[in-house]
Amino acid sequence: MPPITKRVSLVLYSLQGISAIKKPMSDSLPLPQNTWPELHPGWVWLCGAGPGDPGLLTLHGLNALRQADVVVYDALVGEDILSWAGDAELIYAGKRGGKPSAKQRDISLYLVELARAGKRVLRLKGGDPFVFGRGGEEAQTLVQHGVPIRIIPGISAGIGGLAYAGIPVTHRDVNQSVTFVTGHDQTGDAPGSLDWSAIAQGSQVIVIYMGMKHIAQIVQRLIAAGRSPSEPLAFVTSATLEHQNVVESTLGTAVDDAKAAGVEPPAIICIGRSVLMRQVLDWRSLEAGAAPRNLDPLDRGRPAESA
Ligand code: SAH
Repeated sequence: MPPITKRVSLVLYSLQGISAIKKPMSDSLPLPQNTWPELHPGWVWLCGAGPGDPGLLTLHGLNALRQADVVVYDALVGEDILSWAGDAELIYAGKRGGKPSAKQRDISLYLVELARAGKRVLRLKGGDPFVFGRGGEEAQTLVQHGVPIRIIPGISAGIGGLAYAGIPVTHRDVNQSVTFVTGHDQTGDAPGSLDWSAIAQGSQVIVIYMGMKHIAQIVQRLIAAGRSPSEPLAFVTSATLEHQNVVESTLGTAVDDAKAAGVEPPAIICIGRSVLMRQVLDWRSLEAGAAPRNLDPLDRGRPAESA
């Protein structure tokens, strides 16, 4: 390892370089030089829009928006991102949590129809299209009907949303694995096919999507299977957006705390000690001028990066 003085001077050097030349992107910036793929007539691209903050859309997503004739978008896709679609036709195909998903097949077949009509079709979904987004089903139907597709991943709320809350989804002192769970299944009930007791015993950190409706049942099952009622839990609502809100709680008090704080979907729920890291990594509060609440929330008593 280089001596500490040398490391400090390297950091200073690179920071000076950055402040001298870099400026925030303006909306007139063209896509960087690259061989950007072409959205052909009759094709459907399934694209993730990220969790909310428009800056979290990928460059492939932006490239797609600039070419699409039709954008078929979901409930959690923001206006800013849609406004980058130029004069494309915007079609809303959203469903909100827990509602019967009877129309899913209709949406998939509608995409087939649009493609057959020779449109350049962009199917835009919140987060990542393959994470609890039914993207796999839509893509499969398209391929079954002979429609050419491309998949553009997005930043999933369970990763990016937590990052905006200052919660690292993995952190060496906490977890070597993470479990992403949906809080309700196709019927709108708490997923009966999930073995909550196995999840409680085998998952160091649990990240729950669509968990608000059945939160009482979920925490009760996790505690019954041996998780401590004092285990940290956080609700992150409207993650990455201006009005993002984070409620820190515990497994045992989550239901009451959520009610008291008026937590409303969309919310990501994170269960595990990584929630404590927020006390030092809540960068949005730091940005707003707050001091870190605790520089060593896991009580390691040593610098963060010592082995
Ligand atoms: N494909 C999406 C998930 C769709 S399921 C993804 O990868 O992120 C919808 C659920 O995602 C919501 O009920 C909520 O649990 C979560 N979610 C999506 N966007 C969110 C946001 N901005 N803030 C909090 N939760 C969000």
